Amino acid sequence: MGPSTITRGTNVNITDAEELARTLDARDALAPMREKFDIPADVLHFDGNSLGPLTLRSREVLHHTIDVEWRERLIRSWDEDWLAMPMRVGNMIAPLIGATQDSVISCDNTSINLHKALMSAVALRPGRTEIVIDINNFPTDIYIAQSVADQHGMTLVAVPAEEIIGAISDHTAVVTATHVDYRTAKILDAAAITATAHKHGALMVWDLAHTVGAVPFDARALDIDFAVGCCYKYLNGGPGAPAFIHVAPRLLAESGQPLQGWWGHESPFDFDIHFRPAPGISRFLTGTTTVLSMKSLEAALEIFSGVSMAEIRAKSMGLTRLFVDLFDSHLAARGFVLSSPRDPETRGSHVALGFAGGKALVDQMASQGIIADFRPPDLMRFGFAPLYNSYRDVVALVEYLARF
Ligand SMILES: *Cc1c(COP(=O)(O)O)cnc(C)c1O
Repeated sequence: MGPSTITRGTNVNITDAEELARTLDARDALAPMREKFDIPADVLHFDGNSLGPLTLRSREVLHHTIDVEWRERLIRSWDEDWLAMPMRVGNMIAPLIGATQDSVISCDNTSINLHKALMSAVALRPGRTEIVIDINNFPTDIYIAQSVADQHGMTLVAVPAEEIIGAISDHTAVVTATHVDYRTAKILDAAAITATAHKHGALMVWDLAHTVGAVPFDARALDIDFAVGCCYKYLNGGPGAPAFIHVAPRLLAESGQPLQGWWGHESPFDFDIHFRPAPGISRFLTGTTTVLSMKSLEAALEIFSGVSMAEIRAKSMGLTRLFVDLFDSHLAARGFVLSSPRDPETRGSHVALGFAGGKALVDQMASQGIIADFRPPDLMRFGFAPLYNSYRDVVALVEYLARF
């Protein structure tokens, strides 16, 4: 018996669903992970796709950083610990996206890292005139790609995800897309898109904002060129946590980045006026690390060392599948429209429902401690995070939506 026990279309009574959820929770190997989070008892959190909750470890580590590393050790902490953080945290993220050690570094935010990756990729493909992007990508990705195209007199070819493969040609310098669509949670075919880009001699930049910590990704097997991603969503790094950038090791020696600064220098403390890029991924750094934010992120990442992405994915699919089954039996008739893929294989870790009064409903829910979010024009997004959401949370959410 699995989460698919509830058959689509049958009118499942909510009491039966509660019973089923209790059974699924009881045999959920990830259930104890919830104890690592400090979520207020009167809150139901379905927004891990936008802001992961506070971990107990982050609070503990931040207190230590403030009281010991900053207050007592002062500047000595840079050498004792802080200078090594971007690389150390990058190496904690690497296994979550299937990247090799020393090919990921944590810094800046996703927008800036995407800018660095696209500029770097364009410089590696001189003479090419186009950048291809998913037109439904998160707006910041489109703004950044447009600015890179404008600076090089290139054309930004923005097409729906299904048309990306057909839009790639020998004029394409770089293709960029977000692996899990931020609105619908649809998972793009990373293998086919990457292979087509490579077949035409173009480079591939994946945005893993809604992938990392929720959906497995294999940067090495897919042979991607660059990736960027966000750490305050499913990685629970905290508001404004630094993001990450990955560059395939085979490209590192030849890739530069537009924001060369002292942290990307081979030897920053030589204070040499001539820029010499660091030999490895550190050349993608620019300036001083935001220590407090990165401490919070590093602490939150400890949780991932004890679980596998396969376990996380299995539970994520179980949670979203239960929600979709209960949508069919309890919500479809109330005017909600399923806007995420039905097939869990092509669905990320949130489910979007179209609803005309979605904005007002999300606000009303928030005032009652049920946290979801809204994206125009009418999408309510419900994130199901395997590390702290339970099957019973899913049923409680459906009960609310069926009765509000
Ligand atoms: C969340 C998200 C971002 C956020 O970018 P920041 O620069 O970190 O604010 C960017 N792109 C995508 C696809 C996202 O989902």
